[in-house]
Amino acid sequence: MSLASTLWKYVKPHKGLAIINVLCNLGMVVFSVASIPALIPFLQILFGLEELTTEAPPLAWNLGSLKANFYFWLSEIIRTEGYNNALIYMCLGIILVFFGKNLFRYLSTATMAPLRSNVVRDLRQDLFKHVVQLPIGYFSSSKRGDLISRFTGDVQEVENSVLNSVQALIQNPLLIFGALIVMLFISPKLTLFTIVLLGVTGFIIGGISRRLKKQSGEVQAALGDMTSQIDEAIGGLRVVKAFGAEDYVADRFGESNKNYRDTLVKLLRRRDLSGPLSEFLGIGVVTVLIYFGFQQIQAGAIDVAVFLAFIYAFFSTIQPSKQFSNAFYSLQRGRAAMDRVQEVMNTANPVVDASGTQSVDALQRELTFENVSFQYDNADVPALDGVSLSLPVGKVVALVGASGAGKSTLADLIPRFYDVDSGSISLDGTDIRKLKLIDLRNLIGVVSQDVVLFHDTIRANIVFGAENATDAQVEEASRLANAHDFISEQPQGYATVIGDRGARLSGGQRQRITLARAILQNRPIMILDEATSALDAESEKLVQSALFRLMEGRTSLVIAHRMATIQEADEILVMERGKVIERGDHATLLEKGGTYARLIELQSADRP
Ligand code: ADP
Repeated sequence: MSLASTLWKYVKPHKGLAIINVLCNLGMVVFSVASIPALIPFLQILFGLEELTTEAPPLAWNLGSLKANFYFWLSEIIRTEGYNNALIYMCLGIILVFFGKNLFRYLSTATMAPLRSNVVRDLRQDLFKHVVQLPIGYFSSSKRGDLISRFTGDVQEVENSVLNSVQALIQNPLLIFGALIVMLFISPKLTLFTIVLLGVTGFIIGGISRRLKKQSGEVQAALGDMTSQIDEAIGGLRVVKAFGAEDYVADRFGESNKNYRDTLVKLLRRRDLSGPLSEFLGIGVVTVLIYFGFQQIQAGAIDVAVFLAFIYAFFSTIQPSKQFSNAFYSLQRGRAAMDRVQEVMNTANPVVDASGTQSVDALQRELTFENVSFQYDNADVPALDGVSLSLPVGKVVALVGASGAGKSTLADLIPRFYDVDSGSISLDGTDIRKLKLIDLRNLIGVVSQDVVLFHDTIRANIVFGAENATDAQVEEASRLANAHDFISEQPQGYATVIGDRGARLSGGQRQRITLARAILQNRPIMILDEATSALDAESEKLVQSALFRLMEGRTSLVIAHRMATIQEADEILVMERGKVIERGDHATLLEKGGTYARLIELQSADRP
C-alpha cells in the first residue's frame, strides 16, 4: 500500500475533523493572500502616489473595475474625512485581515492535533492486534527488541514526520500559489524571474532530501538493533552474570551503540544543512530581486508602493517554502518509518489464513499424530521426524527425553503454533487444519515451563482467558491448585499486584498460580510442560498434587520430568533427536532396560 492510501485508510474514520482542518487551511490561505493586495493602496496613500478619483467608475465583476471602485471609495473617505481617518481605516483593515489569517491558522493546528493523535492511536492499536495474532514462529525468528522499537520509535516517527508534514504539504503550496498569483498581477516580469530563481533553489534542496529517506531507514534499523541488544542482555541477565559476561555484552552493545551514533550523525548533518542552505539561497533570490526591482522603478514600469507589495508578497512565500521543504524532508524520514511499520503489518499469518471452517467443541475419542515431521525454517535438521502417537480421551501420555529431543516442538504442533511439514495431526479423525482455529485452541489448556504472569493482580492473572469467572470459582480453582492459602496471606489477598512493587512469590507459588489458571479455564486437553527447576520438597509436593488434580478427568500430554508424573502416565514416549525410540508404560520400559531405564536410573541417582 502506498503511503497516501495507508494514510487515507486511517484518516477516513475521522473525516469530519479532516474536512474542518482543510477548510481552516483554506481560510488561512485566503486571508494571507488577501493581505498582499490590501497593502498596495495603503502604501500608495502613505506615499501620496495615487491621484484621488472623483468619478464613480462603472461596477463590473472584473479585477480592474473592482480595483477602480476600491480606489474611488478610498478617495471619498479621504475627501470627506481626511487622510488621517483613511489611514486609520486602512490600519484597521490590515489588523482584521491578519486577525482572520491567524485565527484560521490556530484553528487548523487545533484540529490537526486530535486528528493526528487519533490516527497514530489507531495505527498503534492495529499494529498491536496484528502482532499478537502472528504465529509463534515469527517471534523466534525476528527480534523482539526490533519489534518494540517499531512500536515506539517508528510509530512516533510517523506521527512526528508524516502527519506533521501532511498539513504543511497541503497548506504551504496553497500559500505559495496564492502569493504567486498576486505577484503575477502586480508584475509578470518580476514574477517570472522569481519563479526561475525558486526553481533552481528547489532543485538543489530536493537533491539533498532524496538521500534522507534511505539514511532514516538506516538510523531506525540501528536503533532496533540496539533495542534488541538491551532486551537480550536484560532478559538474560542471570546467564550473563553467571558466566561473568558483563564485559562481553557491554562490548557488543558498545558496537551497536557506536553504529547508531554514526548513522544518526550522518543523517543529522544532512538534515541540518537544509535550513541554512535554504535561507542563504532565499536571501540570494531577494537581493537579485531588489536589484531588478529598482531598475524597473527607475524605468517607470512600477511605483515604489507596488514594488514594496511585491517584495512583501515574495517574503510571504519564503516561510511557506521553508516549511514545505522541511516537511518534505520529514516526509522522507517518516516514509522510512512507515515502511518499517508496514513490513510488520504485511506479515501474513499462515496458520490463520489456511484455517478451516469445521467447528468442534469436544474431544470424543482421541488425538493422533500420524507420521508427523516438522523442521524449523532456520534449522538444518528436522525437529520431529516421523512421529506417531495416540492420545485417547481421559488418558495421560508422557514425553521424556534429553533436552532438544523435540518434546516442546511436538507439544507446540497441537494448538497449531506451527503446522506440520508432512504427516498429520487429527482430532477424532479430523485433521486439525480443517478445524476452526479458535475452536481447536479452546479445547487446549497449556501450562508451560516458563511461568508467564502479568504485572496485574493475582485474581486477574488467574482469570486470564476466563474473564467471566466468579470469585467463588476463582477461589475453588486456587484451592485445587494449592494456591488459596498463600494467596490469602498476601497483603491484599487476590487483589495483590504481582510484580516489582507487589507480591514477591516463590517459584513454586508462581507455578501454582498458573495451575489455578489452567484449572479455571477447564479445557479438556491439557498440555503440561513440567518445570525442571528444583523446588524444595514441600513445594514439589504441593505442585505435584495440584498437577494431578489438573489432569484428573482430562486428556493430558505431559513433558514429564517428575518421577511421580512419569509413573502414573498411561503411555510413555521416549524421544531422541525428533524420533520416538521407545514406548510403553513405566513397568514395561523399565523391564526392557533401554534408554528409558537409563534415564530413570540417572534421575534416581540425582535424588538424595
Ligand atoms: P525439547 O523440548 O525436547 O528440549 P525442542 O522441541 O525444544 O526440544 O527442540 C527440538 C529441536 O528443535 C532442537 O534441536 C532445537 O534446537 C530446535 N528448535 C527448537 N525451537 C526452535 C526454533 N524456534 N527455531 C529453530 N530451531 C528450534
